[in-house]
Amino acid sequence: MTLRNGKPNLYEHAMETFHRAAALIGMNPRVRLELEEPDFEHIFYVTIETRDRLVPLSHEEQAAVRDLAPSSVKAADALEPLANGQFVLHRRALLEADVQMRRGVINIPQQGFFRLEKGGPRKFKAYRIQHNQVRGPYKGGIRYHRDVSLDLFKTLAADMTWKTAIAEIPYGGAKGGIKIDPFNYSREEIEHLSLRYVYKFKKFMGPFLDIPAPDVGTNGEIMAYMMRQFTDGEREHHKMRGVVTGKDVRIGGSEGRLKATGQGAVYCIEEWARGRGFDLRGARVIVQGFGNVGSAVAEILDTMGARIVAVNDVNGTVHRDAGLDVPALVAHVHRNPANLRRSVLGFKGGTPISKQDFWSVDADICIPAALGEEITGDVAERLRVKLVAEGANGPTTRDGDRVLAARKIDLIPDIICNAGGVTVSYYEWLQNQRLEHWSEAEVNGRLEQAIKKNYAIIRDIAADRPQRTPLHDSRPYCVGRPVDVRTAAMVLALRRIEAHYLLEGFSQ
Ligand code: NAD
Repeated sequence: MTLRNGKPNLYEHAMETFHRAAALIGMNPRVRLELEEPDFEHIFYVTIETRDRLVPLSHEEQAAVRDLAPSSVKAADALEPLANGQFVLHRRALLEADVQMRRGVINIPQQGFFRLEKGGPRKFKAYRIQHNQVRGPYKGGIRYHRDVSLDLFKTLAADMTWKTAIAEIPYGGAKGGIKIDPFNYSREEIEHLSLRYVYKFKKFMGPFLDIPAPDVGTNGEIMAYMMRQFTDGEREHHKMRGVVTGKDVRIGGSEGRLKATGQGAVYCIEEWARGRGFDLRGARVIVQGFGNVGSAVAEILDTMGARIVAVNDVNGTVHRDAGLDVPALVAHVHRNPANLRRSVLGFKGGTPISKQDFWSVDADICIPAALGEEITGDVAERLRVKLVAEGANGPTTRDGDRVLAARKIDLIPDIICNAGGVTVSYYEWLQNQRLEHWSEAEVNGRLEQAIKKNYAIIRDIAADRPQRTPLHDSRPYCVGRPVDVRTAAMVLALRRIEAHYLLEGFSQ
């Protein structure tokens, strides 16, 4: 391992599990080299024209313009609010408006004083890391977030290679996105950015080449823009719907995809509970992140009778010892246009607590479903749970892992726990190839079987319990001694990936 300043970087850190599992199974050295670094690292730039903005004046600045007459803006919906307090000024706002402006400042009743800032061209850094494709086309999410980097995308792309192998779907691994805070841009700007991303990357994408999906900061709407940009003008464009997954069901998306990652996590949790003789009805759960994954997992567990006692997101935490009203929280976060950051903050049905206190809420299950490296050694010391089920990618640090193991807190590792999303993405892709539409019951039935089977194999590898049941056969995967469950998941992935190299050989 090459160390920078004597410390491993994020990618090298994440690859420690890979190297441990590779050594354990005596992986062929050439296969190990093939998997150690990504196939391709694409870094490029996308430009868009940003719209004019209304930027709120500070208190001091307001003093000089307090006598400025208010302007009347009739098409009020043409002022698009952003999470940073600014408004995007769409030109139709000026139609029939009575505008009073002084040195670029405008007074909008009920909103305040704003400085008009001219939009213009802006450049954003974009990435797509294609880690490996020996088992099938590159596959992985697109993230729009301000804290992204080459190292992060390399880590997440490699995770996808392991995850698609564990889920037994014929894909490789990739990940990418754009360095941006999407909450500070208008829908139209995000649309243009997404179109531009595909315009630049089109030659490396395709239903049999590289298939993006939603991740943090992206959703079905963005997948629709990407599909349109990729297929527009193509002769047989209906055949290409599988170029992205996670689409709206009305345009070729799959039933069950929206909740699939959360549903897959719940199938794992059910199996864990069955193994421990633990009743999920009445179980106390804390969830970090209330986006696609966190809210789905909370909704499903809530309908199963568990109690979601605390939810933390980037802006705050809500807590209710008797259990939060999950449908009301979902409405507050996801169906409330005034909640610009889609945050649990301000939810009336719970008490705000600090993030520090969130981690020590007395519960049975902790589900991190936000970003990486949240469960550090310190946080793991504070947790008062029996299980950590990793909905997010890479939420637990190495120190966190060590503390969880020492404290005998069980773990369901990310590469199986959140594999439900990519599994149903595969079902979506299959439906697109066949121009079919499956029912939600069919999708969930297949998903349940796939997740439970592969999780059972992982648990057997961990316990060194080779066996064959009607559901699964763990005999080819066990390594002759018990291993921790994260290593066990990696062993399953590597054995399946290695088989391709060994059986197909290498073109020289
Ligand atoms: P999302 O953008 O829908 O939601 C992210 C959530 O995390 C938001 O609630 C946000 O407030 C919260 N968050 C962000 N930074 C935080 C911080 N520092 N502290 C606390 N909360 C924070 O994203 P998502 O699609 O739900 O993805 C969540 C995680 O699950 C990511 O790690 C992602 O890679 C992983 N994942 C997603 C899918 C999928 O299908 N969407 C599949 C597999 C894995």
